[in-house]
Amino acid sequence: MIYIGNHLSTAKGLLAMGETEEQLGGNTFAFFTRNPRGGQAKSINKEDADGLMTFLKEHRFGPVVAHAPYTMNVCAARPETRRFSWEMMESDLLRMENLPGNYYNFHPGAHVGQGADEAIPVIADCLNKAMKEDMTTTVLIETMSGKGTEIGSTFEEIKAIIDRVELKDKIGVTLDSCHIWDSGYDIAGNLDRVLDEFDRIIGLGRLKAVHLNDSKNDLGSHKDRHERIGKGHIGADALRKLVQHPCLQGLPFILETPNDAYGYAEEIAMIRSWMTMREGI
Ligand code: FE
Ligand code: FE
Ligand code: ZN
Repeated sequence: MIYIGNHLSTAKGLLAMGETEEQLGGNTFAFFTRNPRGGQAKSINKEDADGLMTFLKEHRFGPVVAHAPYTMNVCAARPETRRFSWEMMESDLLRMENLPGNYYNFHPGAHVGQGADEAIPVIADCLNKAMKEDMTTTVLIETMSGKGTEIGSTFEEIKAIIDRVELKDKIGVTLDSCHIWDSGYDIAGNLDRVLDEFDRIIGLGRLKAVHLNDSKNDLGSHKDRHERIGKGHIGADALRKLVQHPCLQGLPFILETPNDAYGYAEEIAMIRSWMTMREGI
């Protein structure tokens, strides 16, 4: 089995997200650690955080996958933006300790003309400053579509970052199905080959979460436009095989598809039927 859920708003607090997700039929979820466009983080209400932790346990949820704000660019060209970004990550990771043992997903950033070779050590340096030996959160690097000057659209770039991270037991990867498709990994044509390549370069042991999205664009388009499951260029068949793949069992799968609550509930039900199908094999 896999854990399945979707991205939720934090507007009503932490415990409320668990309750909402359960109503939608899910058993994991994602949320932004602060306004995705940046700005001050809301202070965490300890009682609310403890309430969510109890809820997750009682309802047998999988790990939740927090998402760093989009404005974070730890390898920005301007030193002030870089510093702002790693301070944001450091404070997010401190706040995550209110929800011990979960995941913090971030975009490795855009090199904005500096080149990947310049940017990769900067990203690793940021991680080494922000991550602490006693933290319980696993930091996940998200695979990217390669839009603009984005880092992380190849498994090699992600591996190069991980190689430079000191706290190796606290670093992992999120595979975003839309992003890797857009970056040119043919998960519809040959999923096994893509996962073999991930295993050979990064190691499947590092894969901790999946962002499950269809794509509005074709293989290798470098666009990053998510589509509802089965309505895009990857297609329902390929995404079903991803959900059912033996190497990905036990992971949290997060929907980041353009949907309202009703649409998410429908997608979750469809994915659950795929899981049942697999267990029936
Ligand atoms: Fe993302
Ligand atoms: Fe994503
Ligand atoms: Zn995306």
